[in-house]
Amino acid sequence: MSASSQPVIEIQNLHKQYGEHQVNALKGINLSIQPGEFVALMGPSGCGKSTLLNILGTIDQPSQGQVLFHGAPIVGKSEKELTDFRRRELGFIFQFFNLLSTLTVQENVSLPLDLDDRLPEAERQKKVSAILDKVGMSHRADFFPSQLSGGEMQRVAIARALVHQPKVILADEPTGNLDTENGGAILELLKGLAGEGGPIILMATHSEEAAACAHRIVRMRDGQIRHE
Ligand code: ADP
Repeated sequence: MSASSQPVIEIQNLHKQYGEHQVNALKGINLSIQPGEFVALMGPSGCGKSTLLNILGTIDQPSQGQVLFHGAPIVGKSEKELTDFRRRELGFIFQFFNLLSTLTVQENVSLPLDLDDRLPEAERQKKVSAILDKVGMSHRADFFPSQLSGGEMQRVAIARALVHQPKVILADEPTGNLDTENGGAILELLKGLAGEGGPIILMATHSEEAAACAHRIVRMRDGQIRHE
C-alpha cells in the first residue's frame, strides 16, 4: 500500500436528505479508501452508517456530492450502468446473512455468477469450490442454510460476496448476530481477505472489538465524520 496509490473509493462532500421530514442523514462526508484497506465505520444508531453504505452500494442516491470508483464518478450513472457496476464490483455482507433458504450452500454462493450467462458451467463450479474452500465450508456444499450454525451461514454469505471477485465489500454489522467466538472467527476471515490484491472492506459496526480488527476506524456522529 503506497501513499501515492489511487484510492479505490473516494467519497466527496456527500450529503443525503430524506424527503418530507428533511432529515439530514449525511452532512458532507469526505473519505478515501486505499487499495487493500479494511475500514470500520462506527457511530451511534442513526448517525448515517447505513445511509452511507446504501449510497456506496448504489441502492440509494445522494442529494449532493460524488463517489469516485478508481477515479470514475458513480453518481449520475444510469440504472443499467449501476446494476452492472453493482454486480461486477460490489459484494454485500449482512447482519442476518440473507441466504436463500430453498437453495443449497453451493447454489447460494453461485448466485452472483449466475447473473453472468457468459461464464461456462465448469468455470462457475470451479470458482464456487475454490471460494467455499477459502472460507472453510467445502464440507457443507450440499447443505441447506437451516442445517448450518450462524457462524457457518455467515461464512457462506462471505463466500457469496466474494465469488465474483469484487473490488469492494460492504459489510453491515457482519458479526452483530453472532456469539463472540463465531464473530471473532468471521473477523479473522475478513482480516485475511483485505490487504495486498484483495478487495477493500468497509464494515459498519457497533462493536469496538470488531472495529479493532480493521486497519482504520472511521467514527461518525450526526451525519458527519468525527476528526479527533
Ligand atoms: P445508522 O445506520 O447509523 O443507524 P441511518 O443511516 O439508518 O443510521 O439513519 C440516519 C438518519 O436518517 C436517521 O436519523 C434516520 O432516522 C434517517 N433515515 C434513514 N432512512 C430514512 C428514510 N428512508 N426516510 C427518512 N429518514 C431516514
